[in-house]
Amino acid sequence: MSRVRARIEGTVQGVGFRPYVYRLAGELGVAGHVLNDSRGVVVEVEAPSETVERFLSRLALEAPPLASVERVTSEHVEELGEHGFVIRESPAGGEARAAVTPDSATCSDCLAELFDPADRRFRYPFTNCTNCGPRFTIVQDVPYDRRNTTMAAFEMCPACLSEYRDPANRRFHAQPNACPDCGPQARLVCAGGAAVEDAGARDALEATAHALLEGAIVAVKGVGGFHLACRADDDAAVAELRARKHREDKPFALMGPSLGAVRELVDLKPDELRLLLERARPIVLAQRRPDGVVAPSVAPGASELGVMLPYSPLHHVLLADAGTTLVMTSGNVSDEPIAFRAEDACERLADIADLFLMHDRPIQTRTDDSVVRHAGGRRTFLRRSRGYVPSALPLPVGCGRHMLACGAELKNTFAVAKGGHAWVGHHVGDLKNYETLRSFVAGIDHFQRLFAVEPEVVAHDLHPEYLSTKHALDRDDVRLVGVQHHHAHLAACLAEHGEVRPAVGAIFDGTGHGADGTVWGGELLFGDLEGFERAGLLFPVRMPGGEAAIRQPWRMACAWLAAAFEEWRCPPRQLAQQVEQRTWEQVSRLAVSGLSSPLTTSAGRLFDAIAALCGLRSEVNYEGQAAVELEAACDIDEQRAYELPLLDDGGPLVMDARAMVRDVVEDLEAGVEVGRIAARFHNALAETTARACAVAADRCRTDLVALSGGVFQNRRLLGQTASLLADGGLRVLTPRQLPPNDGGIAYGQLAVAAARLAAEQRGTDARA
Ligand SMILES: [Zn+2]
Ligand SMILES: [Zn+2]
Ligand SMILES: [Zn+2]
Repeated sequence: MSRVRARIEGTVQGVGFRPYVYRLAGELGVAGHVLNDSRGVVVEVEAPSETVERFLSRLALEAPPLASVERVTSEHVEELGEHGFVIRESPAGGEARAAVTPDSATCSDCLAELFDPADRRFRYPFTNCTNCGPRFTIVQDVPYDRRNTTMAAFEMCPACLSEYRDPANRRFHAQPNACPDCGPQARLVCAGGAAVEDAGARDALEATAHALLEGAIVAVKGVGGFHLACRADDDAAVAELRARKHREDKPFALMGPSLGAVRELVDLKPDELRLLLERARPIVLAQRRPDGVVAPSVAPGASELGVMLPYSPLHHVLLADAGTTLVMTSGNVSDEPIAFRAEDACERLADIADLFLMHDRPIQTRTDDSVVRHAGGRRTFLRRSRGYVPSALPLPVGCGRHMLACGAELKNTFAVAKGGHAWVGHHVGDLKNYETLRSFVAGIDHFQRLFAVEPEVVAHDLHPEYLSTKHALDRDDVRLVGVQHHHAHLAACLAEHGEVRPAVGAIFDGTGHGADGTVWGGELLFGDLEGFERAGLLFPVRMPGGEAAIRQPWRMACAWLAAAFEEWRCPPRQLAQQVEQRTWEQVSRLAVSGLSSPLTTSAGRLFDAIAALCGLRSEVNYEGQAAVELEAACDIDEQRAYELPLLDDGGPLVMDARAMVRDVVEDLEAGVEVGRIAARFHNALAETTARACAVAADRCRTDLVALSGGVFQNRRLLGQTASLLADGGLRVLTPRQLPPNDGGIAYGQLAVAAARLAAEQRGTDARA
């Protein structure tokens, strides 16, 4: 006989790991126990030595579908002569280190019950089991047990309790287990809170479906927050939702009742289908079908639609009842974070929603839908949140200190780390108002508790006005590490690929605080996790009027014309309708004098300028809108590229776009189609970027090139640049686990901070 104590680390709580161990123990006839503690799962087994060996060898191999075993360590302990195998209570206290898992879409077993009229959970919107259901959004503390979730207040009925206690049952120790008799309930109410009666409806969900079919806008409480829903084919409803939400033209996401319904709206390639069916059930951006029936107001001017499938029982029943595709957009007023608390939602969404589909299972952490797209042969994140957070990402360099990174300002995420692990938080949003700041601070507190991180090191952006930077500087007794914005982009890309060698990074985005105090955004960096130097840049121009130029791309057109020509006194023909002569002259003077107009190398602003020159968009309603529309306008067959010279005087390379702007103007005056101009611009930027990377890589003796920053969400630019680089024999890295936009900054900041501290430590050790 022998007795072994094994510790299993990784994603092993809330995924049916203990029941699985229990069944395995039963099958092999070993005695002992299993329990969750704050670091994961501990199992002790006692049996003849070869049986114990067999048990240990199968333990990680046959783990349940949602589990991810990172490490199993075992030791021999004294035999106790025990009989039988039990699941023990989690001990209280101890250092919390167990991984909390992401929320997971309803499994096929639960779905079958949901639509079986004979099942006791028929149409029950909170059905779940150990293989599916809410996790991160309901966890309040570790270890992951019911008392530490927002299900704590619901006492299980005898039927649920017997499932929960039966090791042979799919719901054995399923912490959110519930049924219509004992669990959360949904109800349909008006803005004032009064229940809505619909005599013809079976329940709140059917009443909601009726209201939606009749054109109502309904706030629907889901897994990570509220959605605002309405019929996707009813333009009056969608346009009304737009008007009430104060969202001019940013596309709305759609939820289809079935795969077939989704296929009627978008062309789904096999890879996109795979993304759509991932356990996380993200929003997938896919090419819209010209014949797809969707209200024009859903996504005006967009070539893609964001589509998803139902991911919770509530959504499954609601969509089945409605039988039609619904708009499911974040339940917020423009720019504010998504609402997730019942009272808060009723108050904030009162002017938007006609009705509220509420439920009484509290949401602990608001978590937006994730947004992905298939690009460059793989999944690319545009937003990593529900269904993926809080899975850990490795850090290639550990530093032995607990760390926090505060991220950037737009599309903010924060991240915490210890050991070699980083946990990147859910999408917080644009840190520009009190609501988002509060959610940022609460998120950090929650992650510190969940992962038992007490930050000794806090990494932050160099921009002094970012609220995230201010939060870092306000912390007492911590070591601060300031990380240049574009270096963080580069480091994030290198770190997620486990790369510690130096690389050339082409980092193109909207704006970031440069090391020289100017506004960077079209950068070639040469660097590793620890440090960088500037290897190249886009020709700098003025941002006339500063921030105003971000909302008004025509200002950037004005600045580029001022740079490309000696002077440009009146708005070009394409902008004559939008901008008055006098305003143009004033802004033109700012662009020449530089008054209140910082220099910028931003690639995002160059896209803005070209889009404005082409008459596509003179003002934007959301960040990146002009660039998205310029990409959508491209004539895919156009092969020509504008001249975009590379200036090389031995210092940083300069991608001089002035000649290109002159060519664009010439083409416009000659009446060349905008689609061709847009394509020639993309082709030119890709070619010059690839050429500049190759020169810089050669100069710096590396074969590694990273492409990141929000501008590389542009598929045409990314695809062309990457293939030109690969043709030139260079190895190209692009973000896979995190978005290329500022949602990846916090992780990059952690990677830089860890590398710098590790280097410091090596220095100290060397001197000692
Ligand atoms: Zn299930
Ligand atoms: Zn029950
Ligand atoms: Zn950025």
